[in-house]
Amino acid sequence: MTEQCIFCSIVGGKMPTNKVYEDTHSIAFLDINPRNPGHTLIIPKRHYETVMEMPDSEAGKFFESVRKVSEMVRKGVQANGISLAQNNGKAAGQVVPHVHFHIIPRFLTEGPVALESVLSPKKMDDESIKQIIQAIKLADKGAHSSHEPRHEAKHETRKKPEKINDEDFEKDEFEEMDMSF
Ligand code: AMP
Ligand code: ZN
Repeated sequence: MTEQCIFCSIVGGKMPTNKVYEDTHSIAFLDINPRNPGHTLIIPKRHYETVMEMPDSEAGKFFESVRKVSEMVRKGVQANGISLAQNNGKAAGQVVPHVHFHIIPRFLTEGPVALESVLSPKKMDDESIKQIIQAIKLADKGAHSSHEPRHEAKHETRKKPEKINDEDFEKDEFEEMDMSF
């Protein structure tokens, strides 16, 4: 638990919330800015900034709760579907730096728009794809044992390229990327 974290304050009962679920390791409450009726956030009670920092033992249990509450929300508001959104890091749009899944009820009436469609597909040539595969596989060599907390994970990912956006993701720029994670 950290003093400044609003979600830790919710866990500690210091901040009022519209709680819909709680178990030994997680708590779920309504988002104060619901994107749809029933928009719920589920968080681990222990403070981790991103999912990459969670130890496997906790991540597994946490996802069981994510799945369970997703079904509760779907039934509760009679949604046609559920979108799960989970942002890690500022670049990904994370505003509250305490792990959370957005459980967002979806309705056929709103048109079937997938959340990832906020980013447009990028054209990738074969060589670039090959390099990415190698870089991702290589990153596994520095991975932690499945029994250890992963507090260093955010430092491992810090070297990602700074400049990628929908318009200018060209091969030349990709070749300038630092792939030595
Ligand atoms: P993210 O951009 O993934 O970090 O999302 C943070 C979410 O937390 C936003 O959808 C906010 O509306 C929501 N939020 C922030 N403060 C609170 C709060 N005190 N209670 C409920 N939801 C909150
Ligand atoms: Zn926290």
